[in-house]
Amino acid sequence: MAGPQQELVFAPLGGVGEIGMNLSIYGIGSGNRRQWLAVDVGVSFAAEEHLPGVDLILPDVRYLEEERKNLVGIVITHAHEDHFGALIELSPRLKVPVYATPFTAALLEAKCASEPGAPEIPVKVIPVGGRFSAGPFDVELVTMAHSIPEANALIIRTPCGTVLHTGDWKIDPTPLLGDRTDEAKLRALGAEGCLALIGDSTNSVRDGRSPSEADVAKTLTELIKAATGRVAVTTFASNVARLRAVAEAARAAEREVVVVGRAMDRVALIGRELGLFGNLPPFRPMDAYGYLPPNKVVALCTGSQGEPRAALARIAEDQHPEVTLSRGDTVIYSARTIPGNEKAVGRVINGLIEQGIEVITDRTHLVHVSGHPRRAEVEELISWVKPRVLIPVHGEALHLSEHAKIARKAGVPEVLQCRNGDLVRLAPKAGLIDEVPAGRIYKDGRLLVDAQARTVADRRRLSFAGAVSVALALTEKGELADDPSYDLIGIPERDRKGGFMHDYVHEAVMGTFESLPRGKRRDPDAVAEAVRRSVRAAVNERWGKKPMCHVHVLEV
Ligand SMILES: [Zn+2]
Ligand SMILES: [Zn+2]
Repeated sequence: MAGPQQELVFAPLGGVGEIGMNLSIYGIGSGNRRQWLAVDVGVSFAAEEHLPGVDLILPDVRYLEEERKNLVGIVITHAHEDHFGALIELSPRLKVPVYATPFTAALLEAKCASEPGAPEIPVKVIPVGGRFSAGPFDVELVTMAHSIPEANALIIRTPCGTVLHTGDWKIDPTPLLGDRTDEAKLRALGAEGCLALIGDSTNSVRDGRSPSEADVAKTLTELIKAATGRVAVTTFASNVARLRAVAEAARAAEREVVVVGRAMDRVALIGRELGLFGNLPPFRPMDAYGYLPPNKVVALCTGSQGEPRAALARIAEDQHPEVTLSRGDTVIYSARTIPGNEKAVGRVINGLIEQGIEVITDRTHLVHVSGHPRRAEVEELISWVKPRVLIPVHGEALHLSEHAKIARKAGVPEVLQCRNGDLVRLAPKAGLIDEVPAGRIYKDGRLLVDAQARTVADRRRLSFAGAVSVALALTEKGELADDPSYDLIGIPERDRKGGFMHDYVHEAVMGTFESLPRGKRRDPDAVAEAVRRSVRAAVNERWGKKPMCHVHVLEV
């Protein structure tokens, strides 16, 4: 039973003040003796971040590793990458059960199967709407509408009070897959008493309510019916409701659906196994595309974010082995462009248009809706749940502060804004009490590296201003044993006057060396440092940029 000193605490370790990388922890106990429950372990994509060579950004789980004995499990709210994408990398470090609903578990399994060397992840499958306990936490799933099947909010009941962790959600009266936001359960929580609401802020800047998935389906049906040539639709593979809308639109237009792209194949298969496609006719394999008449086919493609290796980019470049498009065909972008991907998406779209293909996006037609709540939906949830405390998460600073404003206006007594790594006490008496280690790590090739590590920063510098490497051979007396040798990498060959950069480097090295007092010439570190400075200054003078410079002094 709860002793008088028990506290309920919350800390975001990712996802606050940034897009993606969601990871939250809840703790029960006191002082430094707490039991923890983690919610979501997501990634963020590096495309927008100017991190050369880095594919993914993961949350730093140092703190949870230290506290592993006290960590009772990880609950995954849904199978979007920003919520479960870091599991394969990080689950081996945490070695605790992962709780997920059947669709999320199936996607995770398929993902592991496609990654060589993926670990065995101890998944416990919880039915949709189910309830289970993990340590002192009694967790009940609440079905929420979103842009993927089986999105769950969590009611976390503890001896110190009850929290609603919303995960990603929206209110959609007609979500196509039947997974409407469970208003009754949320209202019942309000009646039971909700201490704190930890909620999605993504669309808090937008007024009104999100359009419904059914409205998108209607537009897709009209567009596909009106098309005369081939139609390709691209969307996130995990958006099964959207795949279904496309399949239904195709059926209404007497067209067959061909699935193109690995991620799309995977979801099509899992969706069938779990019965998510109802009585829709089966999808056709990719090779059917070649022999179906143009007005009898719809291709469902991966590549909505402009990914160069995904199906749509390859089709646009006429590099796809089975699927081609030509003048008079139509491509529908049934997805939002994630910030940072605009250029890549634009490149594919322009390529398609240049070939005479019509491109339809959500800028002109309702072919996509967001899976996140707009302001009126956020207000409605607050009115159902009536939390005493609200903490905005999942969003950048602007989204979080708008969410906070909505909550204050709706009369939530205590609205707390926090940063990643803040340890917030929810009960008794809400407030910021401490900080825990938080941060980011990079997936760099096969390795995970600390975001503070020099390698990535070095690479960024290299990509901007190149590098000079200098090798000097010194005798015992502090004289040059031979001419120094140089390598200039990524540096212009000549300056404006036509002089060779190589010569300027040589002059700088010789001049510096000769100006050094004899005593210093015998000190390799002093020589290296002086040479390095003068080389960077010399190149900067001619080029306007300071390259990296490495000086290797050899004593012979
Ligand atoms: Zn999501
Ligand atoms: Zn999300």
